[in-house]
Amino acid sequence: MQEQKIALVTGASKGIGAAIARELAGDGFRLWLNYRSDHRAATLLAEEIRGSGGDCTLLPFDVADVAAVATALEPLLEHQVPLVLVNNAGFARDGILALMSQGDWEDVLAVHLNGFFNVTRLVVARMLKKRRGRIINIVSTSGETGMAGQVNYSAAKAGLIGATRSLAAEVGRRNILVNAVSPGFIATEMTADLPQEQILPMIPLGRIGEPEEVSGLVSFLCSERASYITGQVFAVNGGAHI
Ligand code: NAP
Repeated sequence: MQEQKIALVTGASKGIGAAIARELAGDGFRLWLNYRSDHRAATLLAEEIRGSGGDCTLLPFDVADVAAVATALEPLLEHQVPLVLVNNAGFARDGILALMSQGDWEDVLAVHLNGFFNVTRLVVARMLKKRRGRIINIVSTSGETGMAGQVNYSAAKAGLIGATRSLAAEVGRRNILVNAVSPGFIATEMTADLPQEQILPMIPLGRIGEPEEVSGLVSFLCSERASYITGQVFAVNGGAHI
């Protein structure tokens, strides 16, 4: 009997993470769906996935909280190992560096970098034993190029790009493939309040992207067709950074 595939997606109650969860469920993955606080949105998504014949386990925890991550994941990992991990959870706390609070600096680094470390360390240890796995880190155009008002967020996402490349080099021989997907401006709660008149001129395709335009690439990178791709950063940004 073929082993059932599991995908753990962090920050998947809404936005890009929810689109990735839907798409991977459609690809036949059982979902371990993490989020932090929006129980209603997560429950609705889980019901939607189950209603379409899929399987979804809700895992509410803060990826930046190492103890909470271990409490939620270790009991599950005793029995099953995800084939796919998508590190997507995150947020921005924009503001110019000269006025940035210590908290806004630390919280943004914590969710993206500590979050990656806390979740990935536990999962990759088991993937190494299984000798297979796919890890996708959701980064950002801000991690590839300078963006005023996002020094904390740029530092976090650039760090995650570095972690992607080094981890890919570290685990490739065990058939674990690690890549980053780098969205530009995508229509989610995170970008809802940004001034369109300032953003649209920066995008050659002349529009903001949809979460499904990111999740399609993640689905491909998790598929057998992407079996020789590792250590790469793939932009989905409408040409905003070329
Ligand atoms: P979003 O709509 O605001 O959704 C963020 C998700 O992350 C929610 O499910 C949220 O859970 C979860 N989350 C936040 N902090 C968390 C934590 N500490 N632990 C666990 N889950 C947490 O954001 P999005 O736009 O989809 O962004 C998703 C990812 O794409 C982020 O890494 C972001 O940096 C990246 N990105 C987004 C854009 C864009 O234009 N939207 C562009 C480039 C990169 P709850 O709401 O349940 O608390």
